Amino acid sequence: MAARPLLRAVITGPPGSGKGTVSARIVKHFALKHLSSGDLLREHTQRRTEVGILAKSYIDQGRLIPDEIMTRMVLSELKGLERYDWLLDGFPRTVAQAEALDKQCQIDTVIDLDVPFETIKYRLTARWIHPASGRVYNLEFSPPKTLGIDDITGEPLVQRDDDKPETVTKRLQAYDAQTKPVLEYYRAKGLLKSFSGTETNKIWPHIYAFLQTKLPDVSQKDAAAPR
Ligand code: AMP
Repeated sequence: MAARPLLRAVITGPPGSGKGTVSARIVKHFALKHLSSGDLLREHTQRRTEVGILAKSYIDQGRLIPDEIMTRMVLSELKGLERYDWLLDGFPRTVAQAEALDKQCQIDTVIDLDVPFETIKYRLTARWIHPASGRVYNLEFSPPKTLGIDDITGEPLVQRDDDKPETVTKRLQAYDAQTKPVLEYYRAKGLLKSFSGTETNKIWPHIYAFLQTKLPDVSQKDAAAPR
């Protein structure tokens, strides 16, 4: 049997789109290498490498790392994965990064998680905290008995700045502005595969079916009902 070409896939989606869950499921079923630019940066920061120290100030301010630094780091990491199928996550975030990636390898497909902003906003703003104890509630999964009130002390719950609707809207708008051109870039090349929906569990079977046309499922069990 002729060897199949190695898969070069990118996954993209805004914060709160379920990208982490979907990536983990893809890795479990299809045994490809998962390279997340955010994880890679955090690793560098922890190891206090030159790039890590530089990157930290950008990350702390919620800004993108300059293309040149980012591209050098990710492309060199991908060189080490030449013999594997891989899934790239968090990169490219700009058209310049996408062009640099194209020079090194040929991307086969871009999996885009297209989740409505309202759904994401609901998910990301669902977390409420009781500051004194650190107790965390989630309106979806573990709501307090009374909205806005700690079950044990009866004191008011608060939202972290990051979880407040205004902040979440800003983060989503920033993502949209940065990523739209990248999505358009791949759409024009016929590589963009968008999966739309409001629930990860409903989107996942479609992604699974799509990837099955490209890679064998190596997870032994649950192949018929992918989770
Ligand atoms: P993430 O975990 O993907 O949200 O990434 C965390 C932070 O790392 C981002 O907010 C950016 O500051 C930085 N970062 C990750 N990937 C990239 C990229 N492709 N280009 C520029 N900055 C990035």
